[in-house]
Amino acid sequence: MPLRELDTDYLVVGCGAAGMAFTDALVDASKLDVIMVDRRHAPGGHWNEAYPFVKLHQPAAFYGVSSLRLGDDAIDRHGPNEGLYEQASAAQICSYYDLVMRERLVPTGRVRYFPMCDYAAGPDGTHPFVSRVSGEAYAVTVRKALVDANYLQPSVPASTPPPFEVAPDARCVSVDKLASIEDHPDRHVVVGTGKTAIDACLWLLQGGVSPDAIRWIRPRELLLNNRLYMQCGNLVGNLFEGISLQMEAAAKATSLADLFDRLEDSDQLLRVDERVAPGMYKGATVSASELAALRRIEDVVRLGHVRRVERDRIVLEQGTVPAGAHDLHVHCAARGLRLAPAVPMFAPGRVTLQPIRIGLIPFNAAIVGFIEATRSDLADKNRLCPPNPLPDVPLDWVRGTLIGMNADRMWAKEPDIAAWLEGTRLNAARGLRHPPRSRGASAGPARVRACGEAASCRRAGIASGGRGRGPRPARACACA
Ligand SMILES: Cc1cc2nc3c(=O)[nH]c(=O)nc-3n(C[C@H](O)[C@H](O)[C@H](O)COP(=O)(O)OP(=O)(O)OC[C@H]3O[C@@H](n4cnc5c(N)ncnc54)[C@H](O)[C@@H]3O)c2cc1C
Repeated sequence: MPLRELDTDYLVVGCGAAGMAFTDALVDASKLDVIMVDRRHAPGGHWNEAYPFVKLHQPAAFYGVSSLRLGDDAIDRHGPNEGLYEQASAAQICSYYDLVMRERLVPTGRVRYFPMCDYAAGPDGTHPFVSRVSGEAYAVTVRKALVDANYLQPSVPASTPPPFEVAPDARCVSVDKLASIEDHPDRHVVVGTGKTAIDACLWLLQGGVSPDAIRWIRPRELLLNNRLYMQCGNLVGNLFEGISLQMEAAAKATSLADLFDRLEDSDQLLRVDERVAPGMYKGATVSASELAALRRIEDVVRLGHVRRVERDRIVLEQGTVPAGAHDLHVHCAARGLRLAPAVPMFAPGRVTLQPIRIGLIPFNAAIVGFIEATRSDLADKNRLCPPNPLPDVPLDWVRGTLIGMNADRMWAKEPDIAAWLEGTRLNAARGLRHPPRSRGASAGPARVRACGEAASCRRAGIASGGRGRGPRPARACACA
C-alpha cells in the first residue's frame, strides 16, 4: 500500500480529554492546523472503556473543552451530590467528545481526525502512523510540534488485569463488569483505594446492598478533596472560601502535621476513617453525603496490597483473611494516571501535556493550547506553564498547591491570559472579576456551606471531631 504523505502545524497524538482541550483552545486562538490521531475508535480516550456507573468527580460545568458546554450547568436537587453542580456520566462524556469532534473541531477546516490509527515515532524524527483497520500508512511532516497527549497514560481496570493473582475457582471481576453480574453474591469484596473503589462502594450501597455485605480492601487511607468547595458559577463563592481556608491553614500551621490537621478541621481535605493516618492523595473529590455512606462500610481490610485471591482466603502483603466461596472480588486496583516525572511542557518540536493545577486535566491542556497559540518564545512558554506532577501522597498537596498558585499569579499579570481565564468555561475560578449571572444554572443558594455539626447538618457526615481539636467553630449553614 503506498505511503500517504501529510503535512500539518501540529500532530496531536491522543484524542482523550487532554488532546481535545488542547486542540480546541489552540485552533480557537490561532489559524493553525492540526492532525489528531488516536488508536481508539472514538474521541474521549479512556472514557470509552469506563465502568457504566462512573461519573466525573468534579462538576461537568468545568470539564471538557472550552468551546462547548458539557451538561446543563445545573445544580443537583437530590441525591448524593445535592446542592452541588451536576457531574457527568461516561455515556454523556463520550457523546460530548463525539459532538466536539464532529461539530466543533472538524468543521473549522483546520482539524483532521484519524481514529483507529497507531502512532509510533519514526527514526530521525519522522512521524508515521498506521490505520489499524485498513493498514494504510501515513507520514506526517510537522511544521511546529508533535503534541504528546498521552504522557499520563491512564490505565483503567477494564483494560488492565488485576495486580494480584486470582485462583481459577475464585470469583473476581473488573469493576466495569459489576453491573452485568446476574446473581447476587454473598459479599462484594472491593479491592482498591482510589476513586474507582469509592464509586464501586457507593454504587453497591445505592443499589441496596447492605454495608455489612461489602468488604473493602483499602491498603492506604485516602485523603480527598471536599466537592463542596470545588464549585463554580453560582457557587464560585464556595471555591474562594475554600481557597481562603486553605491559605489560613497554611499561614497558621506550625508544622506539616499541623497544616494537614487544619486542612481537615476546616473540611478542605476529608478522609473516610479519621482514626487512620492518610497515606494517599490523588486529588479526587467526595461530597459529604457520599462520605457518610462510605463510613457505613465497617469491614475494611488494611493488610497491604492483595497478592492472591483464593476460594477461601485472600493473601495480602501483611497477612491473610478468610474469604467465602460465594464472595465476588471487584478489581478496582488499576493505576489510573501514571505518576510521570515532570518534563518541560515545551521543547523544540514537542509539547508534552501535563498538569499545572491539581486534578484538572482539561483546564491544564487548554491553557497550554492557548499559550502555544499566542507565544513563540520557548523559555517564556515554559515559564508560564510549569509542570505539576500528579499527586500521590498527602505531602504532594503542598507542592501541587504551590505550583498551581504560582502559575495563577503569573497568568494574572498577562492581560491576554487573564482575559482568556475569565472567558473559558474550564476555569472554575472565573467570575471573580465579573460574577456570573445565571449561566443556565437553576437557581441555587449563592453559598452552600456545611455547618460542621454532624448530627444536625443535612450535608453532614464530614465533621466527626476525630482528631482531638475540640468542637469546630459554628458557621452559617444552608441547613439551618
Ligand atoms: C474514574 C475516573 C474519574 C475521573 N474523573 C475526573 C474528573 O472529574 N476530572 C478530571 O479532570 N479528571 C478526571 N479523571 C482523570 C481523567 O483520566 C482525565 O480527566 C482524562 O480523561 C485523561 O485524559 P487523557 O487525554 O490524559 O488520557 P486518555 O483518555 O487515556 O487519552 C489518551 C489517548 O491517547 C491515545 N493514544 C495513546 N498512545 C497512542 C498512540 N501511540 N497512537 C495513537 N493513539 C494513542 C489513547 O488511545 C487514548 O485515547 C478521572 C479518571 C477516572 C479513571
